[in-house]
Parts: sequence; structure tokens; C-alpha cells
Amino acid sequence: MPELPEMEAWRRQLADPVSAFPIAKAGPAHIATLKTFDPPLSALEGRRLRTADRRGKRLLFPTDDGDLVLLVHLMTAGRLKAVPAGGRAPRSPAFQLEFEGGSKLVLTEAGKKKRAGVWLLTPEGAEAELAHLGPEALGLGPEQLGEIVRRESRRLHALLRDQRLIAGIGRAWANEILHTARLSPYALSTDLGDEEVVRLAAAIDAELERGLELRERGASDEATYRVHRRLGQPCHACGTPLAQVDFEEHTIYYCPDCQTGGRVLKDRRLSRLLR
Ligand SMILES: [Zn+2]
Repeated sequence: MPELPEMEAWRRQLADPVSAFPIAKAGPAHIATLKTFDPPLSALEGRRLRTADRRGKRLLFPTDDGDLVLLVHLMTAGRLKAVPAGGRAPRSPAFQLEFEGGSKLVLTEAGKKKRAGVWLLTPEGAEAELAHLGPEALGLGPEQLGEIVRRESRRLHALLRDQRLIAGIGRAWANEILHTARLSPYALSTDLGDEEVVRLAAAIDAELERGLELRERGASDEATYRVHRRLGQPCHACGTPLAQVDFEEHTIYYCPDCQTGGRVLKDRRLSRLLR
């Protein structure tokens, strides 16, 4: 799933093309993709988008008259692309805006399952839709992070991914961040000392900034992730083969030397725990 660095890189790419011309035609939209019907999509036609904004892993496109907000959540397989006038647009978009002059904003989704969503909302509706999200992960800082980790006792990997606590991090960047912070994915948040909280806050910023910089240059997953999905490959910091473990419904990647003091983490899949 695209996370904060990927979404922020797309936001920066999309801000100019989506605001260059008024919307000529809103739609088509796949029935499973469009989550709202009032206001209707046609309410966008004739209006201009002001820019592309982002909140956590969601993109927001406010109209320049301040009346409407188009909200997009790509989930795992959704992709959003600006297609210039005369450019080749995908044949069956999940959602599309066509601008005056012929350029397009196109949402596609690989696979049969339609999970990505598009909402057309009033600014108040958009605010309510986003109200459950925690503060933005990038620039969180040790003070705010300290408050979050002490609020309740959570495994660090799960805490970082919980959008209600911190917005923008998913499993890939949780793996990268915990490796850089040299903290175990299973460590309990309430056990962290002050110095570890400072280290974790610094790792969140360092990794998300590293990711954003690479994604803005169009770097692939291979060129971006140093820990995520690299089972058995040497740790970039110490050379130890990286390990993986199943936790709840996720696979976590980690370095047993840098992060867990040589300990191998035990499988804690939900299906096993519930047996
Ligand atoms: Zn290591």
C-alpha cells in the first residue's frame, strides 16, 4: 500500500496538472469506487480544482470556490495519474476527471477487487471523514510521539501503523523506521525510555524523508526499501541476514542483530493466537 512518502510524491506531481484547467466531465466512476452520491459528481463540472492536498495516506482535491472536496484513498492497488491532452489514458478507469483542453486525472486499480475509494464531499463532510486520523507522521517530533507511546501499551509495529494514533505509516515504512531506530517491532510502547522515544521520532522523520526523496525521483520499491521484503538479505547496517515474522495479519521484516539483541521473534499470527 502506498504510504506517506508515496502519497506525498504523487501529491506534488498532481498539484499543477489538476489545477491547470476547469473540469469538463466528472466520471465515469466504478460503482464500488465512488462512495458518495450527494453532491453528485456532475457538481464538479465547470469548477476548477485549487490544488492537491494530502492527509495521512489520503489525497484531497478542493475546488477553488471552496464548495467541494474530492477525497481519494488508493488502498493497496489504486494508482492515480495525470494524463496530458492527447496522451494514452487507461481503457477502464475506476474513476476519471476530464479537464477542459483534454487532459485527465485517472484512477486505476489492479486486480478484480475494488478497494480504492473516491468521495465527493463538502468541506465539513471532508473534515468529518478525516476526524479520526492522528497527527501527521512526518514532523511529529519526540514530545508528541512521547505522549502517543505512553497513552496505551502497544507493540511498536502495530502502534506505528494505527492511523488513529499517527497518520501516514503502513507496514513497509514501519519496518524501515523500526530498523533505523534499532527497536524491536514487538517492543511495548510504554517500555520505551526517553532516549528511545527521541530515537524513534528521529527515525520516523529520517525514513519518511528518505522515502519521499526517492519516490519523487521515481525510485522503485527495490531501490527504496532496505528492510521491507528483504528476507535473508544482509542488513545494510551490520550484514546479518534479515529475518521475518508473522504478526497479526502482517509480515514484519527486521534485523535480529540491530533490533532484537539476537533474539528471533515468535510468530504471532491472529489465526494462531485465536486457535
Ligand atoms: Zn543489522
